[in-house]
Amino acid sequence: MVERMAVIGAGVAGLAAAGALVDAGVAVEVFEKSRGLGGRVATRRALGTAFDHGAQYFTVRDERLASRLAGARHAGGLAPLALSWGEGAPAEPAFYAVPGMASLGEALLGDFTVHREWTVRAITHEGGWWLDDGAGRRAGPFAGLLLAIPAPQAAALLPEPGVFQSALEAVVMEPCTALMLTFAAPLPTPFDVDFRPDAVLPYVCRNSAKAGRPAGEAWVLHADAGFSRAMEAAAPDEVVSRLLAAFGRRLALTLPPPAGTVLHRWRYARVSTPLGDACLYDAGRRLALCGDWCIGARVEAAFLSGLAAARSLLTSR
Ligand SMILES: Cc1cc2nc3c(=O)[nH]c(=O)nc-3n(C[C@H](O)[C@H](O)[C@H](O)COP(=O)(O)OP(=O)(O)OC[C@H]3O[C@@H](n4cnc5c(N)ncnc54)[C@H](O)[C@@H]3O)c2cc1C
Repeated sequence: MVERMAVIGAGVAGLAAAGALVDAGVAVEVFEKSRGLGGRVATRRALGTAFDHGAQYFTVRDERLASRLAGARHAGGLAPLALSWGEGAPAEPAFYAVPGMASLGEALLGDFTVHREWTVRAITHEGGWWLDDGAGRRAGPFAGLLLAIPAPQAAALLPEPGVFQSALEAVVMEPCTALMLTFAAPLPTPFDVDFRPDAVLPYVCRNSAKAGRPAGEAWVLHADAGFSRAMEAAAPDEVVSRLLAAFGRRLALTLPPPAGTVLHRWRYARVSTPLGDACLYDAGRRLALCGDWCIGARVEAAFLSGLAAARSLLTSR
């Protein structure tokens, strides 16, 4: 009989795991709280344009990721990161998705069902795994369950964290505030992207310089984790004005007023203290936990963690 398994989270880790389980003959259902796929590899439509407000680009070192993305690359869905850099250009080849980072999620789709806008609020293990959305929807039973969500959210969802508790508590994830900006005319800067240590604003990118993005002058700024944490409760206007001031200093320009601004606060943006193992697995209950937080704050790490979690679930068949 074909086994049914559930994956919670359609970020890169969850989609990688779902694909690997399907390849091994498992019937997979993915449950995702958002409408879009990709999780923190995201595209935000706003201000008449579209911004990559989460992950900016990614490495493809591992052959399995290269092969999963070969079709998308062939079809023009991946572009090499060839932007004009100030400081901080990556030392190895990197790519971004076209026409927006969220299309990476679409590229990782496979022969599995994705239930979008289905937030899992409770999981129970009674003759298999059952998922509950807290509003009357229930799904199950599943022979195996894979949680591909940030560690603090996984800890909150586990009925009794038990064996995983200390491992999950040791993982540290940092916030990041993203500011999306449009301007009426191009800013006269010597670079399109600049990434350097800074207590307020380490990363700035002219999003509209990436291939396939809408015309216009659009920027994405990523604040430092410490600054993002310190400003968590601050009014959005104050955060915007502090980031704009830092942006002007970075460009050595008196900035024209932006045509529009949108602030997004990523609560669990990047892991700073990862688990140190590729995934967590409870063979008795066939429960796997995965995500970038297992290995490191990278898209490719999320992909590899998803594959490792799928492999664990498959070896205990
Ligand atoms: C601002 C920012 C910049 C970054 N820049 C880069 C970069 O340039 N390069 C790079 O390689 N990496 C970068 N990263 C890191 C990269 O985005 C992550 O490492 C990777 O995307 C994590 O994937 P994931 O699948 O582990 O988790 P996620 O992407 O967080 O996926 C988890 C998914 O689970 C869903 N979910 C959560 N809870 C539930 C629930 N209860 N029910 C249903 N669904 C749920 C979420 O909606 C989400 O879709 C950046 C991240 C941020 C935030």
